[in-house]
Amino acid sequence: MKKKNIKRTIELLHHFRCGTCDKWWSVGDAPRSKRSWFCPWCGAKNQYTISKNAGTRENNS
Ligand SMILES: [Zn+2]
Repeated sequence: MKKKNIKRTIELLHHFRCGTCDKWWSVGDAPRSKRSWFCPWCGAKNQYTISKNAGTRENNS
């Protein structure tokens, strides 16, 4: 029996909050340099910066 080529990957999930409708959405492996995002809920354009305390669980102890 041939073994399947399985693998494990890490995805960095970015969470965004819309300033217009106040809803959340997420993008996996979003480019850090991209500041302008359109809200998928209401279509509003928002400007984002990555907060300094954003990071992995280890950093949020
Ligand atoms: Zn919105």
